[in-house]
Amino acid sequence: MISAPLVSQLGRDAAFALHAVAGAARLPRAIESDVASSARTKPDASPVTLADFVVQAVIAARLARQYPDDVLVAEEDATALGVPNGDLTDRIVHMVRREEPGATRARVLAWIDRGRGSPGRRFWTLDPIDGTKGLLRGGQYAVALALIVDGSVQVGVLGCPRLPWPGRASAPPERSSRIHGGFAVAARGKGTWWTVAGDTPAVRLGVSSVADPASARVLHSVEASHSNTDRLHDVLAHLGVREPPLIMDSQAKHAVLAGGGADILLRVPTQLGSREAIWDQAAGSLIVEEAGGRVTDLTGRPLDFSTGRRLARNEGVVATNRLLHETVLAALRSCPSRLR
Ligand code: AMP
Ligand code: MG
Repeated sequence: MISAPLVSQLGRDAAFALHAVAGAARLPRAIESDVASSARTKPDASPVTLADFVVQAVIAARLARQYPDDVLVAEEDATALGVPNGDLTDRIVHMVRREEPGATRARVLAWIDRGRGSPGRRFWTLDPIDGTKGLLRGGQYAVALALIVDGSVQVGVLGCPRLPWPGRASAPPERSSRIHGGFAVAARGKGTWWTVAGDTPAVRLGVSSVADPASARVLHSVEASHSNTDRLHDVLAHLGVREPPLIMDSQAKHAVLAGGGADILLRVPTQLGSREAIWDQAAGSLIVEEAGGRVTDLTGRPLDFSTGRRLARNEGVVATNRLLHETVLAALRSCPSRLR
């Protein structure tokens, strides 16, 4: 699946991550029609489906094989399957066997729960389906895997099964990518790449050169409840943005920013003191940075991935093509939160 030049360019960890995500991301595509009937609601009111568990099990199994000592910090755990969980677990095991022929019920539950690791000096973080609501509504979603060492993201992969190409419309339209989506992969110091299948050459991604906020395209969530829309609108008005926003689910937004398909990505918290989950930001942030972009929180601080399962020292996220970053931070200072 992965071209040899990409492996030698990006190193073993990135090659592993891309391979693991590519294998797992085939599965939600195969069960898209089955996903809605398996959806259930977690205690935090967010949805989880067959696809979330299947992807987590497959990636955890591959990690256990290749890096048996590495810790995995993942979004899902098997307790969300509920008790009794017979039928859904059987469906998960059946799907996992497509990629892991040795899967049994006990192994699959153990693989899923391998994701309960604690963040330490070196660990992987996984959102098996980032944007589950996007998956369910026919929108964007991403399989997001990142390697964090000493609080800094070293490798990031986003599998985006419904994203044809992350750049502006005139960029290379791969026939197969229109059908199957693709993968963004970044390794620190080695750039961000877009790949569709191993035999097609990977394309290096780069952010846009838009410097005037009036003509900038802004990315934000579909889910109004994930962003403080009042402040978002204040900031966009202050910037004088004239382009309509690009509204999509998941870290597919980060891939689009990295490919130059948009220029600014804003995540403005809806509640004072709420903090982002690391698996929602890690892969995407490196993919933007290695494409030449800049990622900070809303006050301009770099994201600090050394604080556990959430970004405890960061409030919200702003990611840009770098050229627009200081302008956006200044607009955020001029438009403070009205939350109390
Ligand atoms: P997006 O598609 O960009 O809105 O991001 C989806 C991710 O947002 C999900 O994977 C959740 O982890 C996360 N999320 C869920 N609820 C909230 C919330 N109230 N505020 C911010 N993020 C949330
Ligand atoms: Mg998520």
